Amino acid sequence: MTVPVTRLAPTPSGFLHEGNRLNFRLTTELAAEVGAALALRIDDADAARYRREYADDVFATLAQMGIEWSVGPRDADDFEAHWTQRSKSDYYREQLWSGIDAGLMVYACVCPRSRQHGPATGGCVGGCRTRDLTHEPGRTALRLMVPAGTAVAVGRDRVDLAEVMGDFVVWRRDDLPAYQLVSVVEDRDLAVTHIVRGADLLGSSAAQIHLATWLQAPNVITATYVHHGLITDAAGVKLSKSTLRGTVTEEAER
Ligand SMILES: [Zn+2]
Repeated sequence: MTVPVTRLAPTPSGFLHEGNRLNFRLTTELAAEVGAALALRIDDADAARYRREYADDVFATLAQMGIEWSVGPRDADDFEAHWTQRSKSDYYREQLWSGIDAGLMVYACVCPRSRQHGPATGGCVGGCRTRDLTHEPGRTALRLMVPAGTAVAVGRDRVDLAEVMGDFVVWRRDDLPAYQLVSVVEDRDLAVTHIVRGADLLGSSAAQIHLATWLQAPNVITATYVHHGLITDAAGVKLSKSTLRGTVTEEAER
């Protein structure tokens, strides 16, 4: 019998917002409902703008909400000393390369970081898919080739991955692992069975389920996914780190 496991997985690239707190609450409630172990995982592998105060904010928020977890860092010191993903880049790279050995199709993309999420390109605007460029760490990103019509089942939803995510980045241009890769590897290693996310991350769930096939992560494919609504402000605009802080988050790259 599989032991149920779920996780809180904030990204420390800004202060938490109401959407994060809602996610924490729903994840904790689901854990209690299904008797799952609750893990805390701070996803800083690609958080280029990590600041200590963002990690402190995570722990302060959890304490304020009365949430207890059984796996993961106890506080920001513990996180920085023992749990940071920034020291695991080589590990994520190995996981990606073994996926490529297993048949994962990727290509090097030289396009400058772009916020244009054009369907089918995922941000590549230069047609790199057919250019057969050599991957140069620090100069090219690696994108997954997502054939048109690739459909991924996420619970009861069916996502057209090529339409929604395009050829998404699995290794960043700045030579850091991309969020999608890290999330699959970490969810695999934690043996996660339940994943609770905002509805805006449905495409990410589909991308990760798709990746999981080559990353030996069957639990990511069979996990129970819950995508919840997002809190909106008075203007009906999605609250996010970007709207609250007036900055662009890594999510643009995700
Ligand atoms: Zn490109």
